[in-house]
Amino acid sequence: MKKNRNAKENYPMSMYNKKTIEDIEVKGKRVLVRCDFNVPQKEGKITSDKRIVEALPTIKYLMNAGARVILCSHMGKPKGEINPKYSLCAVAARLSELLGTNVALTADIIGEDAKAKAAALKDGEVILLENVRFDKREEKNDPEFSRELASLAELYVNDAFGTAHRAHASTAGVADYLPAVCGYLIQKEIGIMGKALADPARPFVAILGGAKVADKLKVIDNLLTKVDTLIIGGGMAYTFLAAKGYSIGTSLFDAEKVDYCRDMMKKAEEKGVKLLLPVDTVIAKAFPDPIDAPVDVQIVPSNAIPADMMGLDIGTETRALFADAAKTAKTVVWNGPMGVFENPTLAEGTIAVARALAESEATTIVGGGDSAAACEQLGFADRITHISTGGGASLEFLEGLELPGIACLQDK
Ligand code: AMP
Repeated sequence: MKKNRNAKENYPMSMYNKKTIEDIEVKGKRVLVRCDFNVPQKEGKITSDKRIVEALPTIKYLMNAGARVILCSHMGKPKGEINPKYSLCAVAARLSELLGTNVALTADIIGEDAKAKAAALKDGEVILLENVRFDKREEKNDPEFSRELASLAELYVNDAFGTAHRAHASTAGVADYLPAVCGYLIQKEIGIMGKALADPARPFVAILGGAKVADKLKVIDNLLTKVDTLIIGGGMAYTFLAAKGYSIGTSLFDAEKVDYCRDMMKKAEEKGVKLLLPVDTVIAKAFPDPIDAPVDVQIVPSNAIPADMMGLDIGTETRALFADAAKTAKTVVWNGPMGVFENPTLAEGTIAVARALAESEATTIVGGGDSAAACEQLGFADRITHISTGGGASLEFLEGLELPGIACLQDK
């Protein structure tokens, strides 16, 4: 079972054709399940239990199938030290409520208490191990720690997409010692995103935004080998506009990436990919401070930004152009806001794209983070085919990287 991350130009079928919990016999077996229970908390109280709720289908399936379920997760960044602030105590309590059965939290991860509680499990019962990051060997993917963790169980299920891009003991290493399959959450992520990248219904349109070109270099490069249309908005668009020879005033600009932008525009042309950049832009004198402060704006063509003004959102014509591309596509992937969406005056471009995805008949996929939050806040989430639960992980997926937490699972 390999767990090395290798950049791959094209997705092997094995990247998204993984065995699931329904492909193995779990009755009477102790099953270690890696979840993402890294929920936001304030003063020891969970402020959103979304991630716990999302993990329930996998847990309930295993319970009903008579498995002896050993859940594990990280919480925050305790840096390898035991710190009650990062305990999974509140998660165990919430899980108990949601499942209607007591979910005991073990006092340790692979110590005596975990071993005793795991051994005492009966069919259909569930326990939760304490925060795996309380042991510094977790993030080092230490083989001995992985082996000890694996020794608690007979099967391993990964259902934590948000950490699947990390090669840690509980997300990947443990699969060296146990038969490993995915849960429903990862199955959905790789089923939809994997198919979109490996065998998309066309036209396939990708919309990228966000602040910096530098953060999306590999994503742009990889998507250019797959899509029919690549749309670039947000702060990163201005370096592309500058590379076209436009004056961009005081807009976000990365001088070191101008050549890269030129190369990408050339690559798009060579590959016959339509590359859409903003044709008009919302400009202001300065970046709003605080970010949601009232701001005076105008809309100008992208090649007419005055020297003392900065572009902070896509303009109305661009919104229509991008929305039209999304609506006439069969597959749309979107990652990153079109402007400074934290400010209501500068959120229109991001809203227009979110709305276009919601109204599109296409398979629509939104990569985590800001764009996912925008869809949720605007009430469009239920009209999007798939909102990824992993920000970093979904970006790495779009980059064409093999995610260690998925590569380690058994192929169908
Ligand atoms: P990222 O973290 O790369 O996804 O970028 C998200 C951030 O980009 C948000 O906080 C936006 O406010 C910011 N952003 C988007 N468009 C612009 C722009 N034109 N100028 C400055 N910042 C922007």
